[in-house]
Amino acid sequence: MPPLLAAVGDKLRAVSWDREQYPDFLWSCWHLANGDPHDLVKLVKYMDRIEEIIGPDRAGFPEHWILTGRLSNFEAVPEATRARVLGEMRSRDIYDTIVPEDFAQALGMYPSAPGRWLIQPWLDAGMRIDPESARRGLEEVTAAAMGGRNPVATRAKASVFRQYVHAGRISMPSELRDEWRDVIVRYPMETTSEETSKVETFIRASFGAMEGAREEREAGGEGSSAWPQTFWRSNWSLFPCRRHEAPRAQPILSDDDRAAVESAYREMKADIKALHERFLQLADTTDPDIFNPDRYEVLTGIVARVLRYLNVYIGYPALWTMEHGAPLLRSVVEARIIIRYLAAADVDSDIFRRFKAYGMGRLKLLKLHFEEYLAAEQNPHEDMIAYVEYLEALVNQDIMEEFQDINLGGNFAGKDMRKMAAEVGLEREYRLLFAPASSNVHGEWSVIDEYALERCRNPLRLRHRIVRREVNGPIGGMVVDTVVEFASLLVDEYEQATSHGRTLTGSSGSE
Ligand SMILES: [Zn+2]
Repeated sequence: MPPLLAAVGDKLRAVSWDREQYPDFLWSCWHLANGDPHDLVKLVKYMDRIEEIIGPDRAGFPEHWILTGRLSNFEAVPEATRARVLGEMRSRDIYDTIVPEDFAQALGMYPSAPGRWLIQPWLDAGMRIDPESARRGLEEVTAAAMGGRNPVATRAKASVFRQYVHAGRISMPSELRDEWRDVIVRYPMETTSEETSKVETFIRASFGAMEGAREEREAGGEGSSAWPQTFWRSNWSLFPCRRHEAPRAQPILSDDDRAAVESAYREMKADIKALHERFLQLADTTDPDIFNPDRYEVLTGIVARVLRYLNVYIGYPALWTMEHGAPLLRSVVEARIIIRYLAAADVDSDIFRRFKAYGMGRLKLLKLHFEEYLAAEQNPHEDMIAYVEYLEALVNQDIMEEFQDINLGGNFAGKDMRKMAAEVGLEREYRLLFAPASSNVHGEWSVIDEYALERCRNPLRLRHRIVRREVNGPIGGMVVDTVVEFASLLVDEYEQATSHGRTLTGSSGSE
């Protein structure tokens, strides 16, 4: 929900209705929860009755106190007045209406709630607090009141606004007053829908400013924020979480879906097979320049790696989601950017050697770390020793490790992927595909939020997040289609980048 911006002098603070204000408006919202505009008229009448009982003498009240219907506002009523208010309400036979039993049940769940004295007659009469009935009422009212712009919240604010106007605490410039007075008096029962929406917008805006002023006044007094915290925090132990009702009885895929996935699978598999064969044909007929094979090996290896990945991936339709397909999508877009970047360099450029050297330097570093680890072990496991020997052979296969530098930069080109993409005209692919896939691979919050967690459906839990139990997401062809399309473009890039080598040998003819 968009928080209200309460402007207090030069201080701007976001006040969230749901989190910080609603719990204090539990009584008002209880009377408004049905959504009937008449209820606002009734609520205002109840407040008039209570003020009438209190009378003009405000001894023992906080300065400038007026009745707003907040629980903390009731809490500020002095002891002696409380007893009189309760007694009078009962003798006028309006207590049960103003403090209904289901409200008493709900408030009874919170021993430290402000304004709890309101329900004392119910408790004295032997009312037993039934958590189940409290839960039902609270869930219903809370669900109706969530979101500061909904009718229930707006009317709760309107009732405060009305009290301020009624008490002459709000002064408006006269031209504004003339324009508004008539409309506000008719709100909410006799205003046109256009007027209603104007009044409500005005109320919400004024309420923000009034709230800010109130918090300023009460700063340092009775911590008015304690109750909303207590309300939400104690709901954790009082009421259970509720999950999205997943149609657990049904399989993830209907028969139709299954048939669609199977046919997509067959089609994709055939496409990928053809793509792979095309690539192998190109790779096999390109002159690798055996005297200096860096260029050939680097370009060919980049494509070969992605196609290996794709060949295995395609066999597991459960991975055909953005959640699980992101690492491959990222790899294939990255490979395309790198191939283009490398292909743009001169055939005998140093960059291919540097590409290899960067990777080998990282491997050498890994080997050094393992050796350090082994040296510190009393009895290193023989598998570990064998593994380090294996690493050593890998590191030394082309160049003695003494002659290999370790480059701690981000990649072989000393240039980040975005810049590289921009240089080769793939910035759009970088922004629209690589970046989101990358967020996924790095487990950024947006991705965790989207896949690993879900919102609790119990309105009494303030939409907090809980673990999503369902581990399979909806399968669709979109991610796979994109991956296959990009793999195909990647092979096109490869074909172009290596065409020179095939023209020279003439073994597959020139294109
Ligand atoms: Zn929950």
